Parts: sequence; C-alpha cells; structure tokens
Amino acid sequence: MTFSQEISLICALLVVAVVVFGLLYRSRNRMKQEIEARMEMFKKAFNVTEDAVIVLDRKGLVAYANQSALKLLGLPNEFADKPLSPMPKVKIKNEWIPLDRFLEELPHKREGKMYTFPRSSLLSDAEKEHSIPVNLFIDTVAEIKDMECCTVILIHDLRKEQERNKVAYSNTLTDLPNQLQAKEDLHKLFSKIHLHNKKLALMLIELDNLSQIRATIGYDQSEAIIIGFAQYLKNLAKSSSFYVYHTYSNHFLICLPVVETADEVVYLGRQIQGRLASLYTVNNVRFHLTASIGISIYPDSGSTLVLMDRAYKALAQAQKSGLGQISIYVQNEYEKKYDEVEIYNALSEAIDKKEFEVYYQPIVRSRGREVVGAEALVRWTHKQYGVIPPDVFIPLLEKSGFIIELGQFVLSEVLKQQKRWEMFKFKPIEVSINMSLLEIEAEGFVENVAQQLVEHQVPPELIKFEITEGVAMKNETEADQQLQALKKLGVTIALDDFGTGYTSFGYLKKFPADILKIDKSLVEYIITNEEDQRIVKAMIDLAHNLGMKIVVEGIETNEMADMMTEFGADYLQGYYFSKPIPAYEFQEMIRL
Ligand code: C2E
Ligand code: CA
Ligand code: CA
Repeated sequence: MTFSQEISLICALLVVAVVVFGLLYRSRNRMKQEIEARMEMFKKAFNVTEDAVIVLDRKGLVAYANQSALKLLGLPNEFADKPLSPMPKVKIKNEWIPLDRFLEELPHKREGKMYTFPRSSLLSDAEKEHSIPVNLFIDTVAEIKDMECCTVILIHDLRKEQERNKVAYSNTLTDLPNQLQAKEDLHKLFSKIHLHNKKLALMLIELDNLSQIRATIGYDQSEAIIIGFAQYLKNLAKSSSFYVYHTYSNHFLICLPVVETADEVVYLGRQIQGRLASLYTVNNVRFHLTASIGISIYPDSGSTLVLMDRAYKALAQAQKSGLGQISIYVQNEYEKKYDEVEIYNALSEAIDKKEFEVYYQPIVRSRGREVVGAEALVRWTHKQYGVIPPDVFIPLLEKSGFIIELGQFVLSEVLKQQKRWEMFKFKPIEVSINMSLLEIEAEGFVENVAQQLVEHQVPPELIKFEITEGVAMKNETEADQQLQALKKLGVTIALDDFGTGYTSFGYLKKFPADILKIDKSLVEYIITNEEDQRIVKAMIDLAHNLGMKIVVEGIETNEMADMMTEFGADYLQGYYFSKPIPAYEFQEMIRL
C-alpha cells in the first residue's frame, strides 16, 4: 500500500470512527434524554398521587421525594441529595425507632403494614399522640444509573380512611361508637373469653320517656339530653373501665369485659339510673327521666352467640315491669326453668325483706280518657336476678301457698295508699287487685277483707277485685259463694282475662261480676284482624246486655284506643296510657 493510500485509509477510518462515534454519541444522548424524559414523566405521575413517595440512594440520601412526601413530613423543597432528616420515627409495637434503622433491621419487600410515625423525631412523647397512622410500603430497586441499589418508600396516609371509618363506626350525634363498632368489639372480646375465668356482662339501656319529654321541651333540647347522657357514660366508662356504645336513638349498650358477680352489674345499672333521675333541668324544670335496663351475663345467661339477644329480652322484660326497671336474663327463664328451690327460699323471705312493691297502671274512661282507676300489679326485685316477672313467681307462690300472704300484703299496701291519697286530697279512684282462687277459697278471706277495709277506713267502692276467668271457672259453687259475700261488702268484682278460656259466654250469665276485662291477647292484632274485631265487638255488646261494664286491656296505640271506644268499651288500660309505675309516679295522674 502506498503512503497516500495509507493516509486515505487512515482518513477513512477516522471518518468512520467519527461517524460511528457521532452516531454512538447521538444515540447515547438520545438515551439520556429519553431517560430524563421518563424520569420527568414518573416524577409528574408521583406528584399527582396522594401517597408520599421517597427514593433513597444506597447511602441513604434522598434521591427523590414527591410533593405529598414533602407535605406529609413537613420537609423543605430543596432537600434532595440530603439524608432524610430529621428522620421520621416509626412506631413498632410500643417503640419509636428512626426510619433508617427500621429500614436496616427489617428485611425489605415484606413490609406493607400499618405503622404510625410522627411528623418529626423532635416530637415529645405527649406529641406522639398526634402521630400519623400510615401504611408503609418499602421496596428496593437495583441498578438505576450509577446507583447500586436504592430504596423506595411509599407512605399511605390513613387519616382520611380513619375519618371515614369513624363516621361509619360512630353515632353522629354523640360521637360514641355505634352498633357496628359494638359488633366488631364484641366479636373480638368473645373470641378471647375462654382465656379468663371471669364473667362478661352486656347492659342495654333505654331512656324510657324521651318521646314524651321531647314533645314537651322540643327536639333540640331532647337531643341535648342524649348528648349529656352520652358524655356522662363516656366519663363513667373511663373510671370504671367498660365499653360504651350508642346503638341507636335512645339506646345505649355497655359491655363490662370482666365482672365477678351479677350484683356488680346491677349496682352499676342503679348508679346510672340514679344519676339520670337527677340529671336534667331544662328552663328550671326538672325532668324525671328514667331508663330501663336489660342485662345478660356470660356464662350465666347463655353462650356468647345469644348474649346480645338475651340482653334485649331482659330489656323487654324490664320494660314490661314498668319504668326505670332492671332485669337480668336468667338462663332458661323464658322456658320457666328458674331454680325453683332457690326461688321458693327467696320468696319466703321476700316479704320481710320488702322486696315486693306494688305498681299502679292507670285505667281511663274511654270517652275523655280521664284516669278513673288503676290496677295494682306486684313487682318483685330479687337482689341477684333483678326484676322477676309476676308470671314466673305467682304460680310458684300459688304452689307454695305464699300467695295468701302476698295477697294480704298487696291488699294492705293498696288500702294504705288509698288512705294516703285521700288524706292528701288526690282524686278518689278505684284500685283493682288481682286475686287468685286460692286466696278466695282460703278460710276467713272475706272476713279479712272486711276487717282491713274498716281498719284502713277506705270506702269499699274504691276497691275492685279482679278474678281470672280460669280461676272463677274451676270451683264454681264455692267460689261463687265467696264472691257473693265479697260483693256484699260493697267492693266491685271484675272478671279478668276474659276471652282466653273456652266457656266464657255461657258463664257470664252466672258470674256475679260488675266488670268484664277483655284480655290483651284478644286485641293484640285488632287493628288488622277483622275476625278479632267481630269477636271483641260481640263480647262488648253481650256484656253490656248483661249490665256489665267493659275494660279493654293491652291498648298500645291511639288507633286501638279509638277503635275500642267506637266499639263501646267503657274503660281502657295499656301501655299507650302508661306502663305500671310506682305509686309516687302514678299519683301525678290523679293530682287535683
Ligand atoms: P293481668 O292481670 O292480665 O295484668 C295485666 C298484665 O298486662 C300486666 O302484666 C301488665 O303489665 C300487662 N300490660 C298492661 N298493659 C299492657 C299493654 O298495653 N301491652 C302489653 N303487652 N301488656 C300490658 P304483669 O304486671 O306482668 O302481670 C302479669 C300477671 O301477673 C297479671 O296479669 C296477673 O295475673 C298477675 N299478677 C300481677 N300482680 C298480681 C298480684 O298482686 N296478685 C296476683 N294474684 N296476681 C298478680
Ligand atoms: Ca288483672
Ligand atoms: Ca290479662
């Protein structure tokens, strides 16, 4: 090859090299531009996400932090290429550790859990309360540019979700956790119940007379009462370590996760009732608020599966017994499997211990709805079981014969009460006393009634005896004689629970009753059941033809009251007017 050829080759090679180099350089440049463009794109994408994204290089310096990260951690804009400082602390169990240590100690990629961390490591312990709940995702990415490895941290701020949850899980009026929360909490508590030998109690509280109070003081004021009551329960919960929920409207639930005895729970219930009674004065008017309480206790009241239902049953039972009562669900109570021996023993002492109390339920004249009488209904509050319904203990009393003693107690209580009302110038009303056949047949029954009437100086027209149809039927002649003798004293006789037996109509003619009481079971569905309507109407007409007056019991709505009035009933009785209540409450209805 000639020298000039060599020169040309070198030149050509140089040109090729320059071209190749130029091409290479251009493609590298393009690659770099491409990478930068992509980076820009990712940065933009990251800046529009709500999650905070931080990328740390292998030295722990911040390679990138998106806008959300700057905002969440309260960091300045220009802090790229600096260490993440001050390093936020992450709460692991109860310990706060700096994020960098956390990154070193935990094997990456597995993390995607909720940790809390405060905005700054400079926060004091007290300020840590203001820490931010987050989901923290951590991952490592190898070989980007000249970095060997970098760490990507993604922080998902959970406050908004918590806020949403809070709304779903709390009562909007009182801010107390609601029934949804109660369900979740109970589920957790029940799953741990076998770990300790203690009992767990549920207590349902219903404010009894809120709707009447609302009608008097207005909606806003009654809301204020609920808020006040919720606040009281909240404070009490802190000092007594129980959970409290506002399940709906005027219903609250308390869960006592560890109790020793039922007494403890009843004591708390009474404390709450007592406080409630003295709690509210609106525009200088003191409101007599009452709460009914139903209690169920694990394991005494049954398994955890039925505990809530049983608390509701107990509440219904308490309400059946009047205002401001407490009832505990006793296992199998509703199948009537009380420990009879225990109840017998308790009954024998109950009168001496003053555990019986007479409640009064008003009876109104159907036209005008004026209170003209009351039925005396006995209540027994057992210190362990709470209120035991008469349907449970009356049959036991009949079996044991204690019914006679109870009857005498009720009669003398009613007579004393009548005398008090007379002395204090209340409106005179007729009080009905329930009478069992055993009592009527007992020797000296009529004489005892006569003697008591004289002793208490109460006119006999103010006393009425209610005898159930079944009772009256069993022992016709003997009972008849007693009834005639009673009538001669001047007291009124009512045939009770009419319509629950079979031979009612025929017997009516012979029975010396002045009043016929139509049982509540006959009117339960009266509004919709036309057959019941025909039966009740016929009963009323028949009794009227026999010269008797009619009381319809079990009136729960205005509609029922109107229909029975239209059918010709003379008197009405039922929850619509009032549940059975203590004498001091009842007398407000007959104050002149
Ligand atoms: P009863 O004589 O039929 O009394 C009426 C029952 O119906 C009472 O139940 C009363 O609380 C309830 N009641 C009143 N209004 C309504 C209403 O609108 N809806 C519903 N669902 N129920 C209403 P309580 O007080 O549980 O008494 C049950 C039974 O126990 C009485 O039935 C009576 O037979 C007996 N009893 C109560 N006190 C005495 C007593 O002092 N002596 C005797 N021998 N028996 C009594
Ligand atoms: Ca009755
Ligand atoms: Ca009845």
